[in-house]
Amino acid sequence: TDCSPPTAVANVSQYACQRRTTTENHNKIFTDVMEELAESSEFNESKGPCLAFRRAASVLKSLPSAVHCLEAIQGLPCLGEHTKAVMEEILTFGRSFKVEEIRCDERYQALKLFTSVFGVGPKTAEKWYRRGLRSLKEILTEPNIQLNRMQRAGFLYYSDISKAVSKAEAKALGCIIEETVHWIAPDAILALTGGFRRGKEYGHDVDFLLTMPEMGKEEGLLLHVIDRLRDQGILLYCEYQGSTFDVSKLPSWRFEDMDHFQKCFLILRLEQGQVEGERGLQSDPGDSRGWRAVRVDLVAPPVDRYAFALLGWTGSRQFGRDLRTFAYKERQMLLDNHALYDKTKKLFLPATTEEDIFAHLGLEYVEPWQRNA
Ligand code: ATP
Ligand code: MN
Ligand code: MN
Repeated sequence: TDCSPPTAVANVSQYACQRRTTTENHNKIFTDVMEELAESSEFNESKGPCLAFRRAASVLKSLPSAVHCLEAIQGLPCLGEHTKAVMEEILTFGRSFKVEEIRCDERYQALKLFTSVFGVGPKTAEKWYRRGLRSLKEILTEPNIQLNRMQRAGFLYYSDISKAVSKAEAKALGCIIEETVHWIAPDAILALTGGFRRGKEYGHDVDFLLTMPEMGKEEGLLLHVIDRLRDQGILLYCEYQGSTFDVSKLPSWRFEDMDHFQKCFLILRLEQGQVEGERGLQSDPGDSRGWRAVRVDLVAPPVDRYAFALLGWTGSRQFGRDLRTFAYKERQMLLDNHALYDKTKKLFLPATTEEDIFAHLGLEYVEPWQRNA
């Protein structure tokens, strides 16, 4: 095989926002392993290694072809010694022994299982593990465990919401949300965000952004939408967070800080009959209820923050993280889901479109489907 790096690979940026990454991943055998190593590091609270593995996976995802030998990755950014050693194992043996060891680890298995429940983060998972709990059934039958409302919903709908959401299901939900929103406010602005906006075939939820053309009119909208979904009998769970947005605050360049817009995390009931291609399809009459539960996120920023919110919520996580790092390190600017601030000029830079934000940052525009970093 030809081991010289393909010309397109030369000059790959260390920042995901300067790479174009479609959903077509030619290096899945490596990136799946990197992402497992990242997750395992996260469970061990090793933040540095976790980010390093995620960055490495992201760089490999952007490559136009599969890597067949170590020489082909020479000169690529973000691939450290650790990553290269894992890649060498995979190239030589077709598998990584290090990752297989982790997969067999009791703690890793338990934490992965526990965090797969909606509402359960690494901290709760760790607490349960320390108590000697190992299975979901043990958690549900342990008398001294207090589940919060979100976790109870997570367990109740576990089998449905741990199943991937298809593009057709996302589309059907889009129609329902659109009808509901426009019934309340005909001039409301609604956009699909998250993985489905990036062209992904499957997702763990469906994300939407919602606003009103007139500033301030978005304030009561989300609660109205929730009420209407409840009236239609399709609201299975709702966690609503009111706005804590403060216009005078400088943006936070730290990616982990969540945004302050009004939002809700929902579980909705989707009738299979409303999904394109599944109409009248009775796959398993014995088991089929004719509906499934789906996780949906709705965010409602004021219209002057719409572009920032859209950019942030479209992701991917790595793309968003690198945009903020790039802004800070290369441009001395602070970017988050609310605003962009130029530290040198001491100025907020307004934007009505995502293109405006890329232009302010001096970056070439990257289309949503090229942000699968
Ligand atoms: P998936 O298909 O797994 O849903 P996704 O890319 O849509 O993939 P999400 O977890 O739905 O992933 O998140 C979409 C985007 O929204 C991400 O870029 C993430 O950074 C952002 N995001 C998610 N939750 C929040 C939150 N609470 N506050 C601010 N931004 C968030
Ligand atoms: Mn999503
Ligand atoms: Mn989401």
